[in-house]
Formats: sequence, structure tokens, C-alpha cells
Amino acid sequence: EGSASRPASYVFASPVRLEGQTVGVLAVMVSLAVVEQAWALSKDPIIAIDSDGQILVSNVASWRGLSVSEVETDADLRLVIEDGSPSNFVQLANRRPRSSRLELGKPLTVLGWNVVIFADTTEARRQSARAMVIALLLCVIVGGVLWAMLNRREEQVRRSRRNQAASLRLERRVRSRTTELRRANAQLEQEVRDRQQAESDLRQAQAELVQAAKLATLGKMSAALSHEYNQPLAAIKSDAEIAEMLIARGTPGKAAANLGRIGGMVDRMAEIARTLKGFSRRAGTDIKPVSLRQVIDEALLLLMPQIKQNGVELKTSLPQDDIIVRGGKIRLEQVVMNLVSNALDAVRSASEPRIELTLERTGSHAVITVSDNGGGIDAEVLPQIFDPFFTTKDVGLGLGLGLSIAYKIVHDFSGTLAAENDEAGGARFVMRIPMQDAQTLAAE
Ligand code: ADP
Repeated sequence: EGSASRPASYVFASPVRLEGQTVGVLAVMVSLAVVEQAWALSKDPIIAIDSDGQILVSNVASWRGLSVSEVETDADLRLVIEDGSPSNFVQLANRRPRSSRLELGKPLTVLGWNVVIFADTTEARRQSARAMVIALLLCVIVGGVLWAMLNRREEQVRRSRRNQAASLRLERRVRSRTTELRRANAQLEQEVRDRQQAESDLRQAQAELVQAAKLATLGKMSAALSHEYNQPLAAIKSDAEIAEMLIARGTPGKAAANLGRIGGMVDRMAEIARTLKGFSRRAGTDIKPVSLRQVIDEALLLLMPQIKQNGVELKTSLPQDDIIVRGGKIRLEQVVMNLVSNALDAVRSASEPRIELTLERTGSHAVITVSDNGGGIDAEVLPQIFDPFFTTKDVGLGLGLGLSIAYKIVHDFSGTLAAENDEAGGARFVMRIPMQDAQTLAAE
């Protein structure tokens, strides 16, 4: 039996009998101090209770020898024996709802004891709580990571879907642009073809026009020539017939006038031929210093009979000293004669026919002006009067070559020929030719 101050001892006793009579008792006392020392290493209370509920051995010294019901440990623990059977139930009644102690009991049947250890579960609970917190944390972390991964995966899927959609859109746009471009290209090609076609059409039309113009010129020329020649030919024919008749009648003297007219007609035809020759002659073969005074004098000398015949007043104004230009004398005379004879034609119907011819110098040019008081040149024919075969004169009176030849001659001598209408009515032709300078003149 132990007490608070002394550990218990276990006594094994056996009676010593001699001839049926008990003579003594053999007792062996085993101290339980060794057991208690071993138990003392545990920080949890351990008790061994007998069948009466008495604590025999304990590592809590104050409990030793007490009955289980008497043990009043601390605020938390109270040992109770339930339903009066301590061998089975030693319980730690907890005054708090949650007990921090776990009773583990093991009956020692040989001794009729019960060994109970009150294991402190606080640490285990704390550890389990810690483990739970850690597990929770781990769960949270893993969950978070999973969530983030899921999110990322979803974002990737969304992005790739977006990219796919964008690339699809782009592809569609490229396709539509390509068709558009192809269409535009085809259109351009068609346009180029059309333009080439138009160009070749134009060239064709141009060639046709040139041909037509040539034919028209030729037609005009042949019409003018046939009229020019037919008129004297008809006159020659009738004169020849009359002369023949007069000779047959025995009055040949009367035929002389007819024969003379025939000679005149032939001269006229020869003149026409000469004009045509002048038109086709190559120019610029003989260019020499020419005196314009001389040119004018000789031209007027040749035209004087006509001027007088028509009662035309001719007014000339020439400079004191001569003006020399480079050109051909005969051709320049031809120009002056043509201008004056056109003026004569123009003043034919005028009441006081007048022609004015002036020669002057302006700067480095000699200027010859021929003006008349005729009807002037109609505005619509003005641009055409230098064209070959352009004439407003009646058939047989003009070939339309005079002015075109004159224009060509003046240009051959680096000059210009222009026509305009006088303010007082009538036409004015102005011819400008560069003057021969003194040095070149002296050298020649
Ligand atoms: P042609 O005298 O044979 O008609 P020209 O080439 O000399 O040929 O003249 C062309 C045309 O210019 C004339 O038919 C005429 O209509 C016009 N013309 C020329 N000189 C004059 C002028 N002094 N006044 C008015 N018209 C003129």
C-alpha cells in the first residue's frame, strides 16, 4: 500500500504449512518504486488501480493511495468511476466541453489491476490543427495555382481563338482585295487594248485624211487647170473655125484678127504653164544681193499697161537710198507683181481705184507694203489665202497659186508675208525681208 510520501510495495505471500497446520507465512515484498521511476519519465499521468478503485501505483505522487473518486486533479481533470465498475471504466470527466486528455486503459488480469494513462492530446490536437492549417494552406495554394493555370489556359484558348478569327478575317480581306485587284487589272488591260485600238484607228484615219487631202488638192488642181486651159482652148477653136471660114470665103485679111487672138490665147496658156513651173521649182539655188528699188521698178514697168488700162491711181513711196536684201531678183519681182496684180483685180469694181506701194526699212528688215481700196479680204477666207489653189475668183480668172508661191519665195529668203485688212477698207499685204548688212555686201 502506498501513500503520498512513500511508494507502494507489492507483497507476494504464501502460508507455510506443516501437517495441515499453518506454521508461518512467507512473504516477498517487491517495491514498486522502480516502476514509478520508469513512469515518471512520462509527462502524462499514469495510474494502476485495483478492483476497488484505489490508486496503487502512479507517477503523480499525490494520487498514490487515493480512491479514484477522490482524485481532484486540477480545474480540467476529475477522475470518476462510472457505474461502479472501476475495472472497466476509469474516466476522466472533463469540466470543459472538450477534453484535452485521452484515457487509455489496459487491465492486468493476473493482478486484477487496471493501468490507465491519461494522454495529453493538446500537442496532438495542436499538431493536427497545424497539419490542417498547412493542408488548408496547401489546398489554397494548389487551388490558386490550379485556378491561375486554368485561367491562363482559358486565356490562351481565348487568345488563340481571337487570333484565329483575326487571321480568318484577314484572309477573307486579302482574298476580296485580290479579286478586286485582279478585276482592276483586267479592266486596265482592257483599257490599254481599247486605247491601242483607238490609236491605231486614229492613225488609220489620219492616213486616210492625208490621202483624202492629197486627192482633194489634186482634184482642185486638175479642175482649176482644166478650166484654165479649156477657156483659151475653146476660144482658139472658135477663132480657128472663123478664120477657116473667112479664108474659105476668100477674105483671108479678115482672119488676121482671129489668128492674132489665137496667138494671145497660146501666150496665156504658156503663162499658165510658167506659173505651174514656178510652183514646182526648187528654191534657194541662186541667192545674191538684190536691190529692192530695182525689183519694184521692173515689176511696175511690166504691170504699167494694165494699171493704165484700168485707170488705177498708183502711189509709190520709196526711200532715197536703195535697200539691198539677199535673194533672187526674178523671184522677188514675181512676188511684187503678184501682189500688185491681185490688188488690180481687187480694185476693178472700185469707183476710184487706188493702189499704194511703199518700201521702207524697219530695224534690220526691208518692208514692202502693197495696199488697195478694193473690197478687202473676207474674215473667213483670210486664213486660207496662202493655201495653194485657194481662189475666190471666177473660173478662168484665177488659179489660186499666186499667193502660195509668193509666200514660199519670201520664206526662202528668210522673210515673212502677211495679209490684213485696212481700216479704210481694202487689203494690205506686208512683206518683210532681212537686209543685207554692209559687211557682207562689201565682201561680195
Ligand atoms: P488668185 O489670184 O489666182 O485667186 P492668189 O493666191 O493670188 O490666187 O489669191 C488667192 C485669193 O486671195 C484670191 O482669190 C483672193 O480672194 C484673195 N486676195 C488676194 N489679194 C487680194 C486683195 N488685194 N484683195 C482682196 N482679196 C485678195
